Amino acid sequence: MFEKILIANRGEIALRIQRACREMGIKTVVVHSEADREAKYVKLADESVCIGPAPSAQSYLNMPAIISAAEVTDAEAIHPGYGFLSENADFAERVEKSGFVFIGPRPESIRMMGDKVSAKQAMIKAGVPCVPGSDGALPEDPKEIIRIARKVGYPVIIKAAGGGGGRGMRVVHTEAALLNAVTMTRTEAGTAFGNPEVYMEKYLENPRHVEIQILADEYKNAIWLGERDCSMQRRHQKVIEEAPAPGIPRKLIERIGDRCAEACRKIGYRGAGTFEFLYENGEFYFIEMNTRIQVEHPVTEMITGVDLVQEQIRVACGEKLRFRQRDIELSGHAIECRINAEDPFKFTPSPGRIVAWHAPGGPGIRVDSHAYAGYFVPPTYDSMVGKVIAYGATREQAIRRMQIALSEMVVEGIQTNIPLHRELMVDARFFEGGTNIHYLEQKLAAKPDLQKATAKGGK
Ligand code: ADP
Repeated sequence: MFEKILIANRGEIALRIQRACREMGIKTVVVHSEADREAKYVKLADESVCIGPAPSAQSYLNMPAIISAAEVTDAEAIHPGYGFLSENADFAERVEKSGFVFIGPRPESIRMMGDKVSAKQAMIKAGVPCVPGSDGALPEDPKEIIRIARKVGYPVIIKAAGGGGGRGMRVVHTEAALLNAVTMTRTEAGTAFGNPEVYMEKYLENPRHVEIQILADEYKNAIWLGERDCSMQRRHQKVIEEAPAPGIPRKLIERIGDRCAEACRKIGYRGAGTFEFLYENGEFYFIEMNTRIQVEHPVTEMITGVDLVQEQIRVACGEKLRFRQRDIELSGHAIECRINAEDPFKFTPSPGRIVAWHAPGGPGIRVDSHAYAGYFVPPTYDSMVGKVIAYGATREQAIRRMQIALSEMVVEGIQTNIPLHRELMVDARFFEGGTNIHYLEQKLAAKPDLQKATAKGGK
């Protein structure tokens, strides 16, 4: 096993990785920006290295600085967490060329999945069902584009091959709007992602977002660890996640899970990963693969008992998977609420000093957060300050425990979205389960105080 790992991330995931390492007896090096110097997990690390000023481009995205930090501290491997450089194939390649282990998939796999056109083609070849659409990137010929759209059937969605973070997508309802939308998405994609290639999919009107967690080693062993429902979204950003997905027949999920594990064997995937699907009318449609640990991984850990970060480290070290598919048993239900430093209904960021912090506890409650009373939330990074995860024998018990946890939780000095979560945990439709990806936005749009805020020009 590795003796020392460098953690190339910040915030709650840096702490999460550090906890996994400490449990395994691995020393940790934390790299941090000037803005994160005082964070507790930086102090808890065996070593820490400041890699630059607050802006990510000069610190958490600064590849030479991170690699030098690994060199001077004699770390053997680098864990990239999520976001930042975690899905950057060039970084993975540079890490390996410099003689370190990248705790993630091989650079080729990251590259293949990072281009959504090649990812989809690989999935079709591996027998994973995809959203119907163009075969590959759209051609230049306008007549050909019109023909493809007629075949797919309106509404369609034009998506950038290099897109991510919910950007680079445009829905088209009529043929009259088609060519203009393609041109605009191409231009935007070229500017934002450095790749003007776009492709077309059938636009599904009321889907749920359901994803499959996988783990694979470098000997072509691959398993899937249940699914997560991440339909509660705002602007394509997940707000609440849960596992299992309510109301979907187990047989259907098992079939899709087995396909995902099989696809991993076929493409020689290594590490943890997630296959994201839209689920509508009893069918799964692949949209993309994430080649890293995800924010919502704890809900899977709670219902499987598997520590996904530790397993990532083990397979990166060349160990064989310790589990076979039959060893994975799902039990109970888990829900995660992402706690963001933001106005709960207008969503404007609310960085600053936390003056009071009381984390909930009790049976089935897990809080993954690097925050504490006196911690300063920098304005520079993502607004997520932690996650509350509730586990119960049943979904009802998990919701009840989450309600209690949210009622106990106190954060003062900054605004958080805890009031929004409190409302969602008593929402009748959420309680039923199975709401689609538009539900949260529709609910927010119906709130009169929000409409007032919008009329005033707020978000
Ligand atoms: P990103 O990488 O930017 O997250 P995805 O391809 O994962 O892009 O899509 C993000 C979200 O956009 C999905 O969760 C869903 O809400 C919506 N979306 C994407 N493709 C479709 C589609 N074909 N039909 C309907 N909604 C879609």
